[in-house]
Amino acid sequence: MKKLQAIKGMNDLLPNESPYWQYLESVVTEVVQTYGYQEIRFPLLETTELFKRSIGEVTDIVEKEMYTFDDRNGESVTLRPEGTASCVRACEQGQLLYNRGTLVQKLWYSGPMFRYERPQKGRLRQFHQIGVEAYGIASADVDAELLILTARLWRVLGLDDAVTLQINSLGTSECRAKYRAALVEYLQARFDQLDDDSKRRMETNPLRILDSKNEQTQALLADAPDLSDYLDDESREHFAQVQAYLTAAEVPFTVNTRLVRGLDYYSRTVFEWVTDKLGAQGTVCAGGRYDSLVSQLGGQPTPAVGFAMGMERLVLLLQELNLFPEDISRTVDVYLVAVGDVIPQAFQLAEYLREEAPYLRLQMNCGGGSFKSQMKKADRSGAEIALILGEDEASKGEITVKYLRTGDAQQTIKQQQITDVIV
Ligand code: ATP
Ligand code: MG
Repeated sequence: MKKLQAIKGMNDLLPNESPYWQYLESVVTEVVQTYGYQEIRFPLLETTELFKRSIGEVTDIVEKEMYTFDDRNGESVTLRPEGTASCVRACEQGQLLYNRGTLVQKLWYSGPMFRYERPQKGRLRQFHQIGVEAYGIASADVDAELLILTARLWRVLGLDDAVTLQINSLGTSECRAKYRAALVEYLQARFDQLDDDSKRRMETNPLRILDSKNEQTQALLADAPDLSDYLDDESREHFAQVQAYLTAAEVPFTVNTRLVRGLDYYSRTVFEWVTDKLGAQGTVCAGGRYDSLVSQLGGQPTPAVGFAMGMERLVLLLQELNLFPEDISRTVDVYLVAVGDVIPQAFQLAEYLREEAPYLRLQMNCGGGSFKSQMKKADRSGAEIALILGEDEASKGEITVKYLRTGDAQQTIKQQQITDVIV
């Protein structure tokens, strides 16, 4: 019989990898929570309409990347390709945005996202993001705060030399429309020299041509009109403030006037944190302001800004640079070897230790076996210490402590003294 396989681009996370994820997730969630962001959880499956109306009909995601199917009642549903749209929907539905008297919401979420893309290093069909969103604040301080938060996160992870920040302002939808017209006019005159993808985008989403990876297209764009010349005064001032705050907070950045991002809902600030250490999949965190999305989805006008980071890419990057804590793959501290008719006493001892040392990772041998085979298991578990309870020790109320990773001599002590050695 043919062996069953996971769906292409949807990976298992085996126990030898999960410590890396647990470490990264705990650092990220700790940092975002120290800035006062609260967790929100929403479903993996939403109505297709939600993503069409928020991300935009003519974006890559909606055109060709969504996992969409009919529910049993005939309604079209989609596995979420990103979190922002769901977050807005959940906030609206939960009346977080204007009915509580506290307009400001600072939220974070974490979990799998689904996009039908060509799987490769750092690009999967089920991938994972941690996202952060702030609602109800129009001023540039919160844009800057989100970037200061991410900069701190990189410092905590040791990644500060490995990532750089690019920022841009897309202005309002009015200035984007004017810029779009100018860009289309410029590119129309050079239409024949564009790559096929960009030709197609001329009609659907011309700003995305700026993002093209095609070299000839990039060369054509060298003299194209610049978005920064089309910004309205307020957007210009807003962007200047973001930059001033970043400078004051000593967060280095470069302004990249070609940065547009692939989703329709952005306005004003957009940004990406990029690394050159992962090949083509170099963006590890991306986001921006989306002041019109809440009203676009039927809510009261509510300014909003947020970002999402790609967890697969961050795990890869931390592994590549050897930045995980040294003992990360050790999951057992103490292995309790119990030989002979001593299991009741072994349980008592194990539970006593768990009581006294709540963070101790203690594995008790289950399944029996000779002294030799249990010691082998103790060694393979990665534990630093083996506690040996044989019938001899048990009858005298003693326990033998053997150090598995150092040359320290083993010792037999009274069970009551065990916390002197372990805790
Ligand atoms: P890219 O340009 O790499 O396709 P994107 O603009 O589509 O990224 P966003 O929708 O902004 O990405 O998502 C934020 C982050 O999530 C990305 O910067 C990346 O780190 C991660 N990400 C996006 N798509 C994938 C994927 N298919 N597999 C793994 N990570 C992804
Ligand atoms: Mg993409």
